[in-house]
Amino acid sequence: MKYIIALLFLVAGLNSYAQEIETENLKKHVYFLANDKMKGRGTGSKQNLKAAKYIERKFKSYKLKPLGEKGYFQEFDAKVRKVKVQDSIRLARNVIGFLDNQASKTIIIGAHYDHIGEGKQGSSLADNSYGMIHNGADDNASGIAGLLELARVYSENKIKEPVNFLFIAFGAEELGLVGSRYFVNHPTYDLKHIHWMLNMDMIGRLNKESGVSIIGFGTSPAFETIFKGINPEQFVKYYTGYEGRGGSDQTSFYEKDIPVLFFHTGGHPDYHRPTDDADKVDYQSLKGILNLERAIIDGSFDIEVMPFRNTDKK
Ligand SMILES: [Zn+2]
Repeated sequence: MKYIIALLFLVAGLNSYAQEIETENLKKHVYFLANDKMKGRGTGSKQNLKAAKYIERKFKSYKLKPLGEKGYFQEFDAKVRKVKVQDSIRLARNVIGFLDNQASKTIIIGAHYDHIGEGKQGSSLADNSYGMIHNGADDNASGIAGLLELARVYSENKIKEPVNFLFIAFGAEELGLVGSRYFVNHPTYDLKHIHWMLNMDMIGRLNKESGVSIIGFGTSPAFETIFKGINPEQFVKYYTGYEGRGGSDQTSFYEKDIPVLFFHTGGHPDYHRPTDDADKVDYQSLKGILNLERAIIDGSFDIEVMPFRNTDKK
């Protein structure tokens, strides 16, 4: 009997472990992706491919269904702008995994995994940074760590949510949202079933006074209803903005009339510089942001998320 009780506790313990965001996992992902060995994950580099394969391995271990065109990968060409030599067209890829709950609607969770490499792509803000590794821990190993933990929690929680989840790690964001634009124009999943899209880009440097920025609040009237169900006392501080467009991959979905929310902890002196390192990420707050995201996601299950017709489309 004692053994059975001990076993029950063990099983309950394992279950609750699977349902929680773990800072140790977040750290592991960020330290792997933002290690010097990854050379800044510039598009077209072998380290960029290595990052894609890391995400692919995780998706596989969470038993997500591959929903790219070559397994989990969706390949496309991206123009890499070069500082001292000619521009070149290089192969890039999105990594796409599907959590199938046999529901009629699907939430997309996205983040980009590429960064600006060794300062040869022209987007470095540091002086004399040519050849220096830009680790991109906040931008955007933090968002990928978040994406992987959400994928793990939702696939291991033994709960069949009334929505499916499409997890997309975008390539070539730093070259102008190339991966997300490619996806919305060559979708591997029918976009008419998309409930809404959540994007994370730079969520590792929370300023506790101002809070995490969530823009896209105005892209559906439903977000007001969903946010009413959130008790701000229980989560990290946040503020909302109405615009759907702005600097990262959610823009591509917004332009297709898909409601979006974009999480971002804001700029800092290490932004697009070689000093954006893993030890500067606030993992505890990162976990807090992900728990806020989970509350918003879970609060949206039974609400119809209709887009506001956007009038400023390209
Ligand atoms: Zn970014």
